[in-house]
Amino acid sequence: MFPLWNEQPPTSVAGNAQCMQLARSVRVGRIKKRHLEGGNAMNDNVNRQVLLVEKPAGKLAPEHFKMSEAAIPEPKDGEALLRVRYISLDAANRAWMHGATYRAAVEPNTVMAGGGIAEVVSSKASGLAPGDIVFGDTGWQDYAAVPAKHLTRMPKVEPMTHLLSVYGIAGLTAYFGLLDVGKPKAGETVVVSAAAGSVGSIVGQIAKIKGCHVVGIAGGKDKCNWLTSELGFDAAVDYKDGAIFKALKVAAPKGIDVYFDNVGGDILEACLAQMNNRGRIACCGAISQYDGVPSAHGPRGVPGLIVVKRLTMQGFIVMDFMDQRDEALSDLQSWVASGKLKVQEDVIDGLENTPKALIGLLAGENRGKRMIRV
Ligand code: NDP
Repeated sequence: MFPLWNEQPPTSVAGNAQCMQLARSVRVGRIKKRHLEGGNAMNDNVNRQVLLVEKPAGKLAPEHFKMSEAAIPEPKDGEALLRVRYISLDAANRAWMHGATYRAAVEPNTVMAGGGIAEVVSSKASGLAPGDIVFGDTGWQDYAAVPAKHLTRMPKVEPMTHLLSVYGIAGLTAYFGLLDVGKPKAGETVVVSAAAGSVGSIVGQIAKIKGCHVVGIAGGKDKCNWLTSELGFDAAVDYKDGAIFKALKVAAPKGIDVYFDNVGGDILEACLAQMNNRGRIACCGAISQYDGVPSAHGPRGVPGLIVVKRLTMQGFIVMDFMDQRDEALSDLQSWVASGKLKVQEDVIDGLENTPKALIGLLAGENRGKRMIRV
C-alpha cells in the first residue's frame, strides 16, 4: 500500500491535533523488536540509494536491485530535504512493479519507491522546519527532497516505529477495513488471512475487542501458536499444512460472517465457500498474486456464492477513510495504552538490507510490521 495520507501542506494536516495528543500520551505496547544484521552506515556527504534495475518477470530476487550513490539533493521551493529514518516494507511494493495501481508503477533504474518516516534537515516550504518528523514517499534512500504537499507532519512518538505500524497505514487499514467495510457485530465469526502480518495481526485483535470469534490464517505452526497464545485469537489455521477447507470448518464451526482478505487466491475460495448468508468480505489485498505469475483462474464461487448467500464483497483503499483518521487514532491509542492491542514490529537495520527484507516479507519471514531502520 502506498501511504500518502493526504495531499495537504503540512500546516493544514488533518488530524494534527490528534497526533500531538498521541505524542503526549502514547504508551508502548510492543511485544518485541527484532534487530538483524547491518548497521547505520550512513555517510553525511553521500546519498545511498537502492535502485530497482529490472522489473521481475517471476519472483522478486536480489539481482532486481542495486545499491547506488548520488549527491544529497537540494530542496527546491516548496520542498523539504529529508533524512530518512525508517522505511516501510509493504507487500504492495511488489504489486507496484506490475503496473499502475492507485499509484504510478515503479520503473527500472529509478530509486525504489516506498513510504518512510523522516526528519526534516532543511526546508524551503512554509510549515516545515528542521527537526520536524514527517511521513511520505521517501523512497529507498538516505535522503530525499520531497514537496511539502506530499508530506504529513507526524508527532514525536516513542517509539518512532509506531508511526509506521499501529499509528501508520497498517493500523488504519486494519481499523477501517474491518470496522467500516467488514462491519462485524459481537458474537459473529471473523476470519483474517496473512493474520500474523502487520495488517492482519491488528485486524484480529480489533475483532476480539469487538467481541467476535476470531480465526487467523497464517503460514506455519509457530505463527499460528503465536496468534492464539499471544494475541488472543480464538483459533488459527496453518494454510501451509494443506487441507485449509477442513481446518477452517473446525476453526469456524458456525461459518464465517466477515472475511478480511489480504491474500486472494485459494484462501479466498475456501473462505467464500464457508461464508454465512449476508456475510461481508473486505478485500484489502491479494498477496498470493503479487510475487510471480498469477494463477490462471480466479476463485470458484464468484459470482455464484455471492448471489446465493447474498454476500457483500467490497474492496477499499485506506486513503478513502482519511477524513475519519482522528477517531481511528484515538481508538487505536486507547487500545494500545490499555494493553488490549499488542504491537508487533520487525525492525531490520541497514538500507542495504531493504531488498532482502522485502523478498523475505513476501516469503512470510515477518511477524507484524516489517521496516528498515536506515
Ligand atoms: P504483511 O506484514 O501482512 O506481510 C505479508 C504476509 O503475507 C507474509 O508475512 C506472509 O505470511 C503472507 N503471505 C505471503 N504470500 C502469501 C500467500 N501466497 N498466501 C497467503 N499468505 C501469504 O504485509 P502488508 O502489511 O504489507 O500487507 C498485508 C495486506 O494488506 C496486503 O494484501 C496489502 O496489499 C494490503 N494492504 C492494503 C491496503 C489498502 O488500503 N487496501 C493498505 C495496506 C496494505 P505467512 O507466513 O502467513 O504466509
